[in-house]
Amino acid sequence: SETNHTKPTNKPNQIHVVGIIGAGTMGSGIAQVAATAGCQVNIFDTNQAALDKAKTALEKILARLVVKQRIDATEKNNIQNRINYVTQLKDLADSNVIIEAIVENLEVKKSVFTELESYVSESCIIATNTSSLSVASIAASLQQPKRCVGIHFFNPAPLMKLVEVIPAIQTSYETLELTIDTISSWNKTVAVAKDTPGFIVNRVARPFYGEALRIYEEGIADFFTIDSAMKTIGGFKMGPFELMDFIGNDVNYTVTETVFNAFYFDPRYKPSFTQKRFSEAGYLGRKSGIGFYEYD
Ligand code: NAD
Repeated sequence: SETNHTKPTNKPNQIHVVGIIGAGTMGSGIAQVAATAGCQVNIFDTNQAALDKAKTALEKILARLVVKQRIDATEKNNIQNRINYVTQLKDLADSNVIIEAIVENLEVKKSVFTELESYVSESCIIATNTSSLSVASIAASLQQPKRCVGIHFFNPAPLMKLVEVIPAIQTSYETLELTIDTISSWNKTVAVAKDTPGFIVNRVARPFYGEALRIYEEGIADFFTIDSAMKTIGGFKMGPFELMDFIGNDVNYTVTETVFNAFYFDPRYKPSFTQKRFSEAGYLGRKSGIGFYEYD
């Protein structure tokens, strides 16, 4: 009620304190987005090295933005000072919203969520950045699953304008509304989608990779020709093979396999042996120096 001031109440634009779990690729990018929007951010990781790396990487990214005159030195300091790198989950206790971006493993996410809920206020939104697990299954680990929602950023989070917001069947209308308001206020464009494998973007993208791999496997054209054709036609910044190398063949294969399994083995999403072998061989793409192409 209005007279109860003992707990913070979330209302639109009252998200000031943001918790992030996982300081890897996605968590560190999401922390930057929230801090740039003026939020106080506490970012937690079980691995101190990941926290150190995130802090150093942010320093570099912001320094580059200063050189490019996209932000000034004061803004750089403000953004950095808004982010605390914390080593315990309970350090996220005073958050209005928490976004989890840890390893893509249901059991690990569930146990983190169960512990987390014992620390936070009644009104705290607990969100997951999962790409392939159902939000419903993660929400089920909470006493109050209505506070759970999917907030799916794309990599790199500071540059990608789109964020998919995924209400699970348990998610309350209030949680959904406040999430949409918050993410919009972070200068992102929200697309709401139901809790289904791949949501929108990762599902629409499956045949882009899958058919390209099949065309290659059937000997119709080599991957360089396929990439060139797709870029020359216009609208595609990268061809499918360049994009798989960019994402990582291991990651891309796993997402396809997960979507395939989740759709009860619908052949539309059948994963590729070629990509599986590339992944097994360590031909992961840019990050390993070799994939469909070679990198230095
Ligand atoms: P990542 O491996 O770069 O980072 C994960 C971090 O989580 C690591 O620093 C690790 O130390 C930490 N961690 C692991 N278990 C933890 C725990 N129990 N408590 C606290 N920290 C823990 O992974 P990522 O690529 O940033 O992906 C994170 C999530 O975001 C996954 O669910 C993934 O599906 C999703 N996602 C990834 C992408 C992408 O392109 N990488 C895009 C959208 C969504």
